Amino acid sequence: MLNIDALRSEFLGKLSSVKSLEELKKLKSEYTSVINNLLKTLKDLPPEDRPRAGSQINQLKTFVLESIDSLESEFKKESLEKQLQSNWQDMTLVLDSPIGALHPITLVKRKILNYFRQIGFSVWSGPLLEREDYNFDLLNVPKDHPARDMQDTFYVNIQGYLLRTHTSCVQIRALLSSPLPIYLVSAGRVFRRDDDPTHSPMFHQIEGLVVDKNLSFGQMRAVIEGFLKHFFEEDVNLRFRASYFPFTEPSAEVDISCIFCRGSGCSVCKNSGWLEVMGCGMVHPAVLRNCSIDPEVYNGFAFGAGLERLAMLLYRIENIKTFFENDIRFLKQFNV
Ligand SMILES: [Zn+2]
Repeated sequence: MLNIDALRSEFLGKLSSVKSLEELKKLKSEYTSVINNLLKTLKDLPPEDRPRAGSQINQLKTFVLESIDSLESEFKKESLEKQLQSNWQDMTLVLDSPIGALHPITLVKRKILNYFRQIGFSVWSGPLLEREDYNFDLLNVPKDHPARDMQDTFYVNIQGYLLRTHTSCVQIRALLSSPLPIYLVSAGRVFRRDDDPTHSPMFHQIEGLVVDKNLSFGQMRAVIEGFLKHFFEEDVNLRFRASYFPFTEPSAEVDISCIFCRGSGCSVCKNSGWLEVMGCGMVHPAVLRNCSIDPEVYNGFAFGAGLERLAMLLYRIENIKTFFENDIRFLKQFNV
């Protein structure tokens, strides 16, 4: 009859010499077929012996499979531990590799936007490829204004579009789409066909716009003063000089007392004691009317500055070209 006990001890002998998962798989398939063959022989036994023999074979089958499973999980555990040891990494290790720095223009932009966010302004952005009417017409720039000339503006071969020449077009986007009042700032790239040692065809501007009821030039001055003192981290004096922009009336240039010589005169301020930092003005009623806002009910003020100019003053940088050269020795200095 069936020698189940002999098969069982033979299996145990072979199992104890198994060294790997592959060998175990071979053993499993070997004994699966042995047991299947045994089950096939059941039909040749006398009917009265079949139940007992069947039960013995099934016990053997269970024993074989359980033994193999348990050894298999041991092998797997062992191999995982080996893998963990060979791939061990110290997650707490501080690597001594160089860390990049933010570009000074990015730092200055973040500093300004964060300040205005804190005093309740929202941050807007607009597309670089802008509608010509948003960039000029609705901002009250006359059709014959020299800024529109081909030598100043990058026109593209799509009728009615250009590379924006200032961030002031974001004012129009807000005036046309946002509920009033508006308190916004926007910063980004602008483009002009300037290419000489002191100008770059691409540079950055920051723009602010407030539209509400009963705003005054004095309130604008207070906002600008708060911003400039925060930005330069100094108690700078301000000077407003009458100026002209098509989209503001009255308009002014804002000077601060020279942060290098404290007003006594130096080469940076050309011995004047003052530094020109931004432009501003009360929003021209025509701009409001162009955007279907009644200038008898609402008024506004706007201000704008060049980020390169502000960064040069803040970080005492002398040449505007250094912003665009990507010299790693220059950029590394702003690693904060
Ligand atoms: Zn000075």
